[in-house]
Amino acid sequence: MEKWKKVLSGAVCDIEEIARKFDLPLEELQQVNSVFPCRIPRSWLERIKSPRDPLFKQCVPDPAELIADQSLMNDPLGEIRHRKSEVIVQKYPDRCLFLVSGECGMYCRFCTRKRKFRQPFIITQQDIEEGLSYIQNHTNLRDVLISGGDPLLLDDEFLDHILAGVRAARHIKIIRIGTRTPGVLPERITGKLVKVLKKYQPLYINIHFNHPDEFTEKTCLALKRLADGGIVLGSQTVLLKGVNDDPEVMRQLMWKLLENRVRPYYIFVCDLVYGTEHFRTPLSKAREIITALRGWSSGMANPHLVIDLPGGGGKVPVNAEYLLQADNGKLLYKNYCGEEYIYPDIEE
Ligand SMILES: *Cc1c(COP(=O)(O)O)cnc(C)c1O
Ligand code: SF4
Repeated sequence: MEKWKKVLSGAVCDIEEIARKFDLPLEELQQVNSVFPCRIPRSWLERIKSPRDPLFKQCVPDPAELIADQSLMNDPLGEIRHRKSEVIVQKYPDRCLFLVSGECGMYCRFCTRKRKFRQPFIITQQDIEEGLSYIQNHTNLRDVLISGGDPLLLDDEFLDHILAGVRAARHIKIIRIGTRTPGVLPERITGKLVKVLKKYQPLYINIHFNHPDEFTEKTCLALKRLADGGIVLGSQTVLLKGVNDDPEVMRQLMWKLLENRVRPYYIFVCDLVYGTEHFRTPLSKAREIITALRGWSSGMANPHLVIDLPGGGGKVPVNAEYLLQADNGKLLYKNYCGEEYIYPDIEE
């Protein structure tokens, strides 16, 4: 068995062990666990010192997950409605999601696809072939986002088959993979995997990171392997109350990413997923964070901060306001320090 598979099978799903370790009420955790099971990489669990740790809240079940809030949904992004086949979701004209894996290295408590923890969806060879033929037949597509679950939990051989199938569609110009493995299962990023990935350039990998503490030595090495393999790395972060809803933490996270050759791409406002109310922040917090990054940190450290609109509207930016007034072709702006400057526009 490959080493990463051993590490994965050693992930902690035993709620009693978790309750014991942190001295939490077992019965309540069992209730949560029966609705939304847990899976915590052993290396994460070992690094958590107390329930205040930013790693803790991301992975340990919380009774708050069972508080029913009617405004929250099982499928907030309208993915069921936008489904084109078992494994294809398309909302935009030129790009689609290709959901190739139902497995994850960790079950993140705030996950948008949390409804699937209990019965991780089984993706059959037939589903994959149908997805590939959808991609083949839709020549308006030029960008395929391979996601899941976590696509990098598939075997090298199967991943190779999927990537080859997508590449065979001549109209597909770029392939993207979304994964959390470098942070939760860095052992997965083997030389053999990079060899497979390298064959399918231009390939972009967007990696999920939420806190600077997620960068261990092994994680940094995994990122280096991917970057040295010539793969362009981007990031995705979810804004989470009690984890990273703090401008200083976000600034440090963005810098950690850049130091590891990962270009910050998106910060998402937490989706309206049933069972994640306790992670939500007001939008004013999102604006505070984006304002704290712009100008105070390099433009490289400024990802798009977006809301993925409920119901499947797609992503829209939570913009900070810099334009104060527009008067006779003279636009009054404030800069990052709050100083005012005039920009003279020209007529159309
Ligand atoms: C997020 C998403 C995309 C990709 O959006 P980008 O802004 O291009 O990164 C594509 N399709 C779906 C359904 C999505 O949710
Ligand atoms: S790795 Fe991604 S898909 Fe998997 S549980 Fe975490 S957020 Fe959800």
